[in-house]
Amino acid sequence: MQHLDTYKTKGLRKALVEELKTKGITSLSVLLAIEKIPRHLFIDSSFLEFAYQDKAFPIGEGQTISQPFTVAKQSELLQIKPKEKVLEIGTGSGYQTCVLLELGAKVFTIERQRNLYLKTKDLLTKLNYNTKCFYGDGYAGLPNFAPFDKIIVTCGAPYVPESLKQQLKIGGIMVIPVGENLQQMQVYTKISDTEFSCDEHGDFRFVPMLESRK
Ligand code: SAH
Repeated sequence: MQHLDTYKTKGLRKALVEELKTKGITSLSVLLAIEKIPRHLFIDSSFLEFAYQDKAFPIGEGQTISQPFTVAKQSELLQIKPKEKVLEIGTGSGYQTCVLLELGAKVFTIERQRNLYLKTKDLLTKLNYNTKCFYGDGYAGLPNFAPFDKIIVTCGAPYVPESLKQQLKIGGIMVIPVGENLQQMQVYTKISDTEFSCDEHGDFRFVPMLESRK
């Protein structure tokens, strides 16, 4: 694994941050997190030049590391405050997890593919990112650790799982891409035990949220 963060990779990250600004990302804390985290360590080291392009990229097991703009957008929509408890569905490469950690959140993240879960748990430990990784099914969430201030789903959900709605605090926010082939970024705010408000924030394309473990 390539551990080095060089002038070159730092420079590429600065350029990526500028690109994200032109695409409409305004949250300073999100932009700072992206400027800080060496995204090239989350993908195969032979693809270094792709790490700082604003594109999704394969990470094995048929999965992808989300496009930087998507990570930035979802992170911005979550409006994270330090120490908030955040549930992430779809650990994948762990890159989005690290953005949430840099924003000061306490992150609980679930991955349904065992190999990815093991690989990413190991990587996050090596990079000194302190988070709780779970191998399990995102549809069930983590009832034992609920309620959460924020919930982020990083795979395309065919519908909004009831269990995740229940595990959100009142006043909490869930950011979830909903749809089959193309997903609409939906932001739910929990108003009471049974009421939610919902805003939509454009179309995105994610790998699907799958039902059972592999
Ligand atoms: N946040 C990730 C995005 C990875 S892609 C990153 O920054 O890299 C989405 C991930 O969701 C994949 O790793 C996929 O295996 C996982 N996934 C799909 N369905 C799931 C489910 N039901 N529960 C948990 N994870 C799931």
